[in-house]
Amino acid sequence: MEQLAAGAARLGYPLTPAHLSLFETYRTELMLWNEHTNLTSITDEAQVETRHFLDSLTVLLALDAEEAASPCLRILDVGSGAGFPCVPLKIVLPQARVSLLEATGKKVRFLRHLITTLGLPDIEVLQGRAEDLGRLPPYREAFTLIVSRAVAPLATLAELCLPFCSVGGSFVALKKGDITREIQEACAAIKLLGGDNPHIISIPLSLLGDNRCLVSIRKIAPTPDRYPRRPGVPAKRPL
Ligand code: SAH
Repeated sequence: MEQLAAGAARLGYPLTPAHLSLFETYRTELMLWNEHTNLTSITDEAQVETRHFLDSLTVLLALDAEEAASPCLRILDVGSGAGFPCVPLKIVLPQARVSLLEATGKKVRFLRHLITTLGLPDIEVLQGRAEDLGRLPPYREAFTLIVSRAVAPLATLAELCLPFCSVGGSFVALKKGDITREIQEACAAIKLLGGDNPHIISIPLSLLGDNRCLVSIRKIAPTPDRYPRRPGVPAKRPL
């Protein structure tokens, strides 16, 4: 776990032996379940450390120290898959309340097993589609931070994520490569859904490669009631 420890320290979050032991357990469970359940194509131990765990922790760059330590921090991971990025984040931000949203049953089963095995408090797994849950009163505009990695292009993702975000909160997408065009194509959708101009944060970690960045969007107005549209429509006909 040396690469993870060094990378986390560079991000300003040095890991304790207790954190590292949770990450070890996470990797073991991920690899075990991956033998029978398709959770990740990354099976090399060192790559799990950097491309899953450390990459997830880069979200910390979007938070100031006060936000990161706040007991009011309530985070939603849209399309969490095998727990990325929000399970690694929960390990280093133990006071945050975290919800993992995932549509696929077998991934939800893994996530429930994982959080029990890691013994993490204040973290729940929600099974369903963002288009459905984003309309329900307990979840709508209920989170201060929405994060999502590898789920959809930004225009679609904005419709899946911004309805969950409280006004004053933020939506952070983990992206890689040149995203100038993707951002341009999403600008109208972001505005319509109540988001401010996107802010791009580049990741100062060369070991991650592929030009990673965070797209951070502050929510400045409520999302109109008609969004999100029906399941599948945000992907088929982006705003
Ligand atoms: N965030 C994880 C998983 C990415 S794969 C990672 O970076 O490793 C995309 C995941 O999003 C899949 O597990 C898929 O089931 C889920 N997903 C896609 N669309 C969704 C939707 N509309 N609502 C909820 N989950 C969704």
